Amino acid sequence: MARGHQKIQSQAKAQEKQAKMKKQQGHSASDQQKAAAKALVFACAICKSQMPDPKTYKQHFENKHPKNDLPAELKDV
Ligand SMILES: [Zn+2]
Repeated sequence: MARGHQKIQSQAKAQEKQAKMKKQQGHSASDQQKAAAKALVFACAICKSQMPDPKTYKQHFENKHPKNDLPAELKDV
């Protein structure tokens, strides 16, 4: 009887653990989405293309718009 009870307890614990892991996974997934949305903050001043980081933006600017002046925020990238 004691063993059966223990089994039920460990099953309940395992379920709890799984639920927690699922919760954490869901949390980190939404965090990643937030981070991804936040990352696309660099929009090209000329063509409005969105860049994930200033280095990419700078490269894009130098390649696509070499005749335009580099935006001030990219000069020290
Ligand atoms: Zn551009």
